[in-house]
Amino acid sequence: MLCTGTLTGTHAGRSGGCPPLPEIVPATSPARALEDRAIGAYLGLAIGDALGATVEFLTPREIRHAFARHGGAHTEITGGGWLRLKRGQVTDDTGMALALGEALLTGGGKLEALAAAHAFDAWMRSKPIDIGNTVRRNLLRFRATGETAAPPSEHDAGNGAVMRTLPVALATLGHGDAGAAAFKAQAHVTHNNPLSDAGGLCLLDLLHAALARRPWPELLARARALEAAHKEYAWSAAQRHENPSGYIAHTLIAVFQAFFTASSFEGCLVDVINRGGDADTTGAIAGALAGAWYGMETIPPRWTKALDPAIAQRCREQAIKLCAFARAP
Ligand code: MN
Ligand code: MN
Repeated sequence: MLCTGTLTGTHAGRSGGCPPLPEIVPATSPARALEDRAIGAYLGLAIGDALGATVEFLTPREIRHAFARHGGAHTEITGGGWLRLKRGQVTDDTGMALALGEALLTGGGKLEALAAAHAFDAWMRSKPIDIGNTVRRNLLRFRATGETAAPPSEHDAGNGAVMRTLPVALATLGHGDAGAAAFKAQAHVTHNNPLSDAGGLCLLDLLHAALARRPWPELLARARALEAAHKEYAWSAAQRHENPSGYIAHTLIAVFQAFFTASSFEGCLVDVINRGGDADTTGAIAGALAGAWYGMETIPPRWTKALDPAIAQRCREQAIKLCAFARAP
């Protein structure tokens, strides 16, 4: 009998006399498709951060003026900005996500608050180029007390915990409530606030839905459920939210408006970062969400090439390793 090499599934390598066939994973298999979306999400996060940092804290009017010779919009990874970044350099948004991703990998896809706190603390010791005030204050508190949860605070509704949601989403896809528990454990190290929790859990839900390729109306319904529960998150597509601050409701409203009105990864990112304000963080969150939805092959190669190669490599590796913990939903 001839060994044709065309057998797959339960028949592969089982017929007597033939050597076992290698397992063939076609490009369109569910595992491969998930991996592509996971890599797209992680590269999207870093690209949005690098792209947005150039115009962080500018207003849309200032951006239009500064980029008048380029059609009035910021569309290229160039570095600069108030942090004087090198081209392709990223900021705390990507740095904290990668630190959290390492903790998840060490924990075999599970996350204890203490592991997250140590990972963030080690990241702070590495002298990152920027760090949020709430993050710094509560990491210093952790160092002094060993307490992993910050005291609840109505003032800690910044976007610093939500910006690092992606690695949790990748490792917990299909794991039921474990994702929410892991999100809150890591969030409360620096931000113990109900609005931050609600926004982060909604983003976690949206990332899971995008990675699982749930239908678009379902994603929109999940975003709308957030504003039904918390009026701070109310938004309409007609009223454009410009100059979003670091307040989590303003950040997510800008991200949702850009994501739900764009029809491509590039369109979503260009829209959100040109709103200015906390543009590296809106860019990082929108980049993760759009990357998860559209997949890595839709990311403009000029952006992937411009990203710091060491950062791009860490993003790719973590994406592959973390989504290996995902279970079929
Ligand atoms: Mn940043
Ligand atoms: Mn920021």
